Amino acid sequence: MKGMATAAPPLATPEQIALYEPVIGLEVHVQLGTRTKIFCACPNEFGAAPNTNVCPVCLGLPGALPVLNQQAVELAMQASLALHCEVRGQSVFARKNYFYPDLPKGYQISQYDRPLAEHGWVEIELPDGAVKRIGVTRLHMEDDAGKSTHDGYRDSSQYSYVDLNRTGSPLAEIVSEPDMRSSDEAFLYLTELKLAMQFTGVSNCDMEKGNLRCDANVSVRKRGAEKFGTKVEIKNLNSFRFLKQAIDFEIARQVGVLEAGGAIAQETRLYNPDVDETFSMRSKEEAHDYRYFPEPDLVPLAVSGEWLARVKASMPELPAGRRKRFVSEHGLREYDAQVLTATRALADYYEVAAKASGDPRMAAHWVTGDLAALLKAAGKEVEECPVSPERLGELIALIAGGELTGKLAKEILPKMFETGEAARAIMEREGLKAMSDSGELEKIVEGIIAANPKQVEQYRAGKTSVIQFFVGQAMKATRGQANPAAVSEILRQKLV
Ligand code: ADP
Ligand code: ZN
Ligand code: MG
Repeated sequence: MKGMATAAPPLATPEQIALYEPVIGLEVHVQLGTRTKIFCACPNEFGAAPNTNVCPVCLGLPGALPVLNQQAVELAMQASLALHCEVRGQSVFARKNYFYPDLPKGYQISQYDRPLAEHGWVEIELPDGAVKRIGVTRLHMEDDAGKSTHDGYRDSSQYSYVDLNRTGSPLAEIVSEPDMRSSDEAFLYLTELKLAMQFTGVSNCDMEKGNLRCDANVSVRKRGAEKFGTKVEIKNLNSFRFLKQAIDFEIARQVGVLEAGGAIAQETRLYNPDVDETFSMRSKEEAHDYRYFPEPDLVPLAVSGEWLARVKASMPELPAGRRKRFVSEHGLREYDAQVLTATRALADYYEVAAKASGDPRMAAHWVTGDLAALLKAAGKEVEECPVSPERLGELIALIAGGELTGKLAKEILPKMFETGEAARAIMEREGLKAMSDSGELEKIVEGIIAANPKQVEQYRAGKTSVIQFFVGQAMKATRGQANPAAVSEILRQKLV
């Protein structure tokens, strides 16, 4: 039996897993949202017909020379700053040599011992409210490879197809320190990283389009041990859910191996979501030797202090800063500030609505409440919302100014959502407005009191909660146009 593969030991039980501490570091690729590719003028776009966005440079034809895209460098600088990295005054591009059908040059142009930026961090908030800082080792720039398609075609059993449109797209690779201790922490780290990239406009981080790709390095050690265990790299985790599942599987697998008396082999594994397992792709012995050397066709990248300062000055506000400002300036609760910074588009929408409404807290209430429900029911993102944030702000200003009751506004908003009209246009057409004539309201309240002697008696006997009954009657009688606070006030005067 010697030399033959033996059956893998069973996955560890939760009791066994509890004896170990997972150690996780992530390597994340972010596609920079430039107009053109990193070393040529081909469009950097998704979805074009295969092999149409190509030229001698990205096809790797002999004699073609790369020219570094300034916008790519600036976006990578913004990404670095968003991750609190130090940007080096000089970084160097290097050739990473390997053979693959979707890599026509035979090498990737990356950065090796002198990356664009180093020594950064990302803060995550743990479930108990504690803030944990995850180190960012480095951020470097590189060009992307093309895409091989192994199935989906009629002759896929015999052929693989190669599309080189993506070849030469600009990437930032962001390597973390091995600072995460659970799949949840990895999930939170990737969430914050993605938000930082989206808020700065560096990338839209659309995972379905491959604009955000993640590899996870996972090891385990006995609790209390100082030395890290042997790590395994899991490649190509293309969703947040798979990242979490793959890490959890890998922890259980590694603890299972160790508890059975085995040793962890340093290797690269792939995650198969269909069976929720990782499997070995290549061992350390089969690992590539990339034979890195400085790229002879590009001069070192020099970033002057002046250039860096200019990019720094152009940085949009980051999600964490925005969250804090929503609490301190707008008076929102932490929770609402968190919800409203879930995406940059949502934060932008809220902020415009808040300004137009003059009442940021009420604006938060409407954006996270009724508007969110309408968007959800329509299956729409906030970017496609038929009610502009200015118009939502107007609606809220009408409530704040007493022209509309909350109840009327709740009727009007779905109509705005449907037609895109302004609140006032709907109010005028449908004759909806808050009843401001207190004489008229008084008469209605008197009528209700006269018609309900039993409830009046109860109120006078001390059951003050029946006031809700009267308010309800008044709202009904006025088709929601009465201001409930004004009704209560009149009732209190009349019922004594
Ligand atoms: P390699 O030499 O294999 O490239 P690095 O030291 O450069 O390894 O680390 C690559 C990634 O693996 C980083 O994200 C790092 O945080 C993570 N890492 C390193 N050692 C461990 C470990 N023992 N367990 C888990 N992750 C690790
Ligand atoms: Zn090109
Ligand atoms: Mg490394």
